[in-house]
Amino acid sequence: MKVNRRQFVEQSVRVAAGMSVLGGAGAGWIEAKEGKPVAAEPAIPIVDTHQHLWDLSKLRLPWLKGAGRLNRSFVMKDYLEATEGLGVVKSVYMEVDVDPADKVAEAEYVIELCRQRKWPTCAAVIGGRPAEPGFRQYITRFKDSPYIKGVRHILPGPESGKAFFLEKPFLDGIRLLGELGMSFDLCMPPAALLDGAKLVGLCPDTRFILDHCGNADVKMFLPPERQESTEKALAARRFVDHWRASIDELAKRKNLVCKISGIVATVPKQWTPDDLAPIVNHCLDCFGPDRVMFASDWPVCTQGAPLRRWVEALGQIVANRSEADQRKLWGENAVRFYGLRG
Ligand SMILES: [Zn+2]
Repeated sequence: MKVNRRQFVEQSVRVAAGMSVLGGAGAGWIEAKEGKPVAAEPAIPIVDTHQHLWDLSKLRLPWLKGAGRLNRSFVMKDYLEATEGLGVVKSVYMEVDVDPADKVAEAEYVIELCRQRKWPTCAAVIGGRPAEPGFRQYITRFKDSPYIKGVRHILPGPESGKAFFLEKPFLDGIRLLGELGMSFDLCMPPAALLDGAKLVGLCPDTRFILDHCGNADVKMFLPPERQESTEKALAARRFVDHWRASIDELAKRKNLVCKISGIVATVPKQWTPDDLAPIVNHCLDCFGPDRVMFASDWPVCTQGAPLRRWVEALGQIVANRSEADQRKLWGENAVRFYGLRG
């Protein structure tokens, strides 16, 4: 590709700002050397495995009350704007914890989006309560849908008492998902991750996805000199040790993959990709190149940074990994895991 001086300057500025020349990620990341034209390689297409949408004229989301900037509709138009030029070719919708009475309406809303084939959204993980008596009836209605791939029910931390998700009614629901060829998204506070590992071990025929790097908090990974006090630095150290050990334990379960996502929502005001790197790298190293998937967690990610900045930061963190491994992370693993349409 021939690049004239003006284009080169523009590209250099964008590269310096950490942006890819062609959009997309991975191989699209290039190094600009003074005086040398930038040779742009084809960008890696992105599959976003955790895309939220909510249209408040159609669905009720009680938790949005008090959620600040998130308390409005986020629809496809907004998503397309947020991902413009990034090379997002497919996305998997993630349930948004609607009012229980709206669960079926939510599923139908996203099935219709997928059916239109006009948008990146081509599959969905819907809400559901695996321990509830009506769960079998609820979920089997979607068993032949080519779009419904799994269920999520956000699980509580140990402070809520006994882990109900290790008891028979819940386990039965999760095993049913395995029988139906559906997955379960494991989303829980870090303190509950070891119980999460038990759950994954108790349901070996169900495929699980660990959301958001186990919900690690980026602020805890900052060095002691960036912590507010010695006490906070010690607490942060304990958090990190526990999180690392939990990820080690989870990654031993071969029926679990890890979504590289979410953490950008927890960044401090001033941050760089280096602040996210310990979390990303530990997950990538423990789970290996075949069991990790990129996700945006848009629009929740915008609490920390725009989606574009998350993609750029992750691109920088993984730039030293092989192109083959980067392609798996950004999209190939997701296509295989969910059996997404071509
Ligand atoms: Zn989310």
